[in-house]
Amino acid sequence: MNVLPLKERMKILRRHMPELDPLVRSRNFAEVNLGLNVLDAVTEASRCIECAKPGCVVDCPVGVQIKTIVALIHAGDYLGAAAKLREDNALPAITGRVCPQENQCEGGCILGKKGAPVAIGNLERFVADFERESGQLGLPANAPATGKSVAIVGSGPAGLSAAGDLVQKGHRVRVFEALHELGGVLVYGIPEFRLPKSIVKGEVDNLRRMGVEFETNVVVGKSVTLDELMNEEHYDAVFVATGAGLPVFLNVPGEHFNGVYSANEFLTRVNLMRAYQFPDFDQPVYDCRDKDVIVVGGGNTAMDAVRTARRLGARTATLVYRRSEAEMPARKEEVKHAREEGIEFHLLTNPVELLGDENGWLTGARCVRMELSEPDESGRRRPVEIKGSEFVLPANVVIIGVGTTANPLIQSTTPDLATNRWNYIVADEKTLRTSKPGVFAGGDIVTGGATVILAMGAGRKAAASIHEYLSSGQW
Ligand SMILES: Cc1cc2nc3c(=O)[nH]c(=O)nc-3n(C[C@H](O)[C@H](O)[C@H](O)COP(=O)(O)OP(=O)(O)OC[C@H]3O[C@@H](n4cnc5c(N)ncnc54)[C@H](O)[C@@H]3O)c2cc1C
Ligand code: SF4
Repeated sequence: MNVLPLKERMKILRRHMPELDPLVRSRNFAEVNLGLNVLDAVTEASRCIECAKPGCVVDCPVGVQIKTIVALIHAGDYLGAAAKLREDNALPAITGRVCPQENQCEGGCILGKKGAPVAIGNLERFVADFERESGQLGLPANAPATGKSVAIVGSGPAGLSAAGDLVQKGHRVRVFEALHELGGVLVYGIPEFRLPKSIVKGEVDNLRRMGVEFETNVVVGKSVTLDELMNEEHYDAVFVATGAGLPVFLNVPGEHFNGVYSANEFLTRVNLMRAYQFPDFDQPVYDCRDKDVIVVGGGNTAMDAVRTARRLGARTATLVYRRSEAEMPARKEEVKHAREEGIEFHLLTNPVELLGDENGWLTGARCVRMELSEPDESGRRRPVEIKGSEFVLPANVVIIGVGTTANPLIQSTTPDLATNRWNYIVADEKTLRTSKPGVFAGGDIVTGGATVILAMGAGRKAAASIHEYLSSGQW
């Protein structure tokens, strides 16, 4: 219990998370945020005024018991706090690093109304790291074997969290992953400097210890179909958690030139083929050193790509976004970090053509200036071209990070799996059951590109629903 009078608590300033120096970090892939030390974590926890109706919990998409966790940190019971956190969040060291807390728990924190909210994300990361580094990770015991087996397709946060819950219920669980590494976007998309691969690997290793089986390099829909998994390999249920990794392009002339990438391809090559460990590993992307790189888009993916290009030695790393900074979907912290690292921002700017030379190599992007008019269906103000505002930005590399859509393979090889008009799988909101008996779906493949915590929540919901189905036998 916090004995400091309320007034005193409200005078304490939010503790700052130490960060690597921008000049140093923009030349390497080391993690930018360094984590809170014990003293700062306890001081930060002491700022919480223990609301009767905590807005932080209401605004957490999976209802993490933040108030209780913060109180446990303040009392010095870090392992207790970690255990409480794990009750609702299977991947706390990951979400503590990548959740957009400003729109979620911290957005709901009462202290944010007048000053700075409690640094909930930093505290979450602190307890998760403390637990891991203490070596006292309390892995839950599994229930006796049920004799039922579940195939999970995709090893992103949705697949991993479902796997953890299902294996605990006593089911045999095997995760099939198309790529050669496990973790989905957590490893192929989000770069090392925001989420070290070792953290994701640690969580996967924990699941392995709990008995989850993993098989990589299996493209379900090509190597094996969903029907074969059920009818020939006799899985009792399947959870499809294949994400939304199919890139969307600009559809402007010139996208065929050498030097044009989708952000997903660029990040996947850098992350999975270890370009971030150059020169120990070959650089599997067009050499960015001393080149002009443009990244198009305003979300996390675009921001990750432009900061990656900078670290690969780009002379200029420029973000081109058609709206203003206020409309950028990227996390605020990422935008701040990018600016500190020397990323140039061309806001209210839209590429209308990519330019190239006679040998097919990219030379630049012809852009127009935009202004904002009325809000569109997304609620954001619609960008409109300013006539006669054209100009050319020189570029050797253009990376397009304007969005992604459903990974399509399973849908195209499973005719009785209902999809919507954008090819996302249709699943019942409460049960995550699809149109095909025994098949459940969740995460980005159902909602479209969302967040890690929402995908993780979907994985847990699917696990509960699959368990209910396997126990009752009723579809
Ligand atoms: C670059 C980038 C940065 C992001 N940053 C953030 C952030 O900071 N914070 C945040 O909250 N969210 C962020 N997101 C969004 C977040 O990562 C996703 O919402 C989340 O990962 C979705 O989880 P998922 O499990 O549904 O799918 P994914 O993480 O996409 O995982 C799906 C997995 O399924 C595999 N797969 C696909 N098809 C098949 C198949 N046919 N057979 C076998 N396996 C298959 C894929 O290879 C992949 O490993 C980011 C996304 C990107 C792309
Ligand atoms: S809303 Fe903020 S102050 Fe209130 S309980 Fe949650 S973290 Fe503490």
